Amino acid sequence: MKYSIRKKWNEMRGFVFFTLAITLLWGMEFAFADFYDSPCNSMKDFVGQAFQWGAIEMTTFVFIWMIAANKYVFAVAYPLLTALTSAVAFFRYTMKVTVTPMTIDLTFTNDLTTTSDMITLPLILFILINLIAAIFIARWRFIRLDNLKWQWIHIIVCMALIYGIFHNGRLGIPVSNRLPFNIYASLNEYLGNKRIVADKRPAFGGKTTCGTDSIDVVFIIGETLRADHMQINGYARPTTPLLAKEKNVVSLPDIESEYWFTHESVPYIMTRADHNTKDRAYTERSFIDIFKRAGYHTSWISNQESVPTFIYFMKEADKLTYVNGGKSLYIYDSWLDDDVLPPLDSALTNGKSNSRNLIVIHSIGSHWWYNAHYPKSAARWKPELTSRVITENSRQQFINSYDNTVLYSDSFWHQVRERLRHRNAIVIYLSDHGENLGEDGQYTHANDTKEVRNAACWIWCSDKYKSRYPEKYAALERNAKKKYNTAFLFHSIIDAGDISTPYIDKKYDVFK
Ligand SMILES: [Zn+2]
Repeated sequence: MKYSIRKKWNEMRGFVFFTLAITLLWGMEFAFADFYDSPCNSMKDFVGQAFQWGAIEMTTFVFIWMIAANKYVFAVAYPLLTALTSAVAFFRYTMKVTVTPMTIDLTFTNDLTTTSDMITLPLILFILINLIAAIFIARWRFIRLDNLKWQWIHIIVCMALIYGIFHNGRLGIPVSNRLPFNIYASLNEYLGNKRIVADKRPAFGGKTTCGTDSIDVVFIIGETLRADHMQINGYARPTTPLLAKEKNVVSLPDIESEYWFTHESVPYIMTRADHNTKDRAYTERSFIDIFKRAGYHTSWISNQESVPTFIYFMKEADKLTYVNGGKSLYIYDSWLDDDVLPPLDSALTNGKSNSRNLIVIHSIGSHWWYNAHYPKSAARWKPELTSRVITENSRQQFINSYDNTVLYSDSFWHQVRERLRHRNAIVIYLSDHGENLGEDGQYTHANDTKEVRNAACWIWCSDKYKSRYPEKYAALERNAKKKYNTAFLFHSIIDAGDISTPYIDKKYDVFK
């Protein structure tokens, strides 16, 4: 027995060291791209990131073992995979963007000029150097190492291990969101999204008309903003000074969010779903379809990830623009809502022949790792968060960084309103949910509490809009202090757009 283990080891030694060497090379060159700029200010941070890097290395080891089991497979697959991974790593290092379902969508659907702009000499050189090295490695393996005995068993066991890692929450999430495995995960999600979009949900029927020829309805989907951290709702810090100066603005401080995660909340808000008919979020179209039927030109400007639960609605819009499509929540770099403004400008000017515009803006708002979502210069309250490990920060640091995001959002919203001030326009802002900021020791929005359901909401309109629809504005003021569920949005926004349709339920309409 002892003899046979030794014999086996002697036989396998070369292969084990070879796989280890490649794993380390990939870990230091490619996986490192997703770590080098992460905030790391404490031992716990370091340990957490070392654990994640280790999980990626472990998976890489199994993966390399699998493709190296057969030398012919390795000779073809290894150089190709290296070229692909090095291309993604290059963008991650130089531009802090990565592969996501959005970047894949852009590569396949955008005009080639934008894609070809990305192909530069340094990129080609980086890929070429890696490719040449990979060909040498593959050649070495081909000549020096035999195929593994029982190679199919090895391959099947490796596949089972990788499957197990991907489907284990603690390992699967950090691994599938980072290089090289996010290439596969993103492609998989992109293809899944395509299937969802191809699904034919029935169109809304009935008579749909619009009472005006010229109108802009802008819906800002907010992120993680709690109503009680807004100055206009009585919060002690001046977090929304610009909103406070507006005259035609009404805050609705008592909106209860049905859900407290983006991927569940957004489809609920976009559709006719309510507390008793939640499944409508997954079987019906959104209000965008009704606006289209009423003669609106519709745009969706996304400053967030495209998620399978609401990609359907994004694709309902006549025009979909991804802002920061290459950002992932695993990149702790600056990711700002002001980037929405250029596509907003074009959405407002390109509707010359068609002057009814619906524009949905999915903002990044107050999303976790707050520091990334306001410029450093806009940090009014300090000290800010310093560690990604929640417990390494004080509650005050949490609140400071969070309030800084609110202050920055206030200036972003102001710029949206400035563009609409002299038009017949209305802006509806509704956050997808709230956030815990240390109440009962709770942080972020993992658990159901009153704070995570406290979704901020405000509605502003231009003077033109107000004088054209005084009865709507008066009703809004009257209803502002009432308690609503986030289901109100679907019905209210259709009414805000001066659209008549049998689908408006008056009890949810804040303009009635
Ligand atoms: Zn959210």
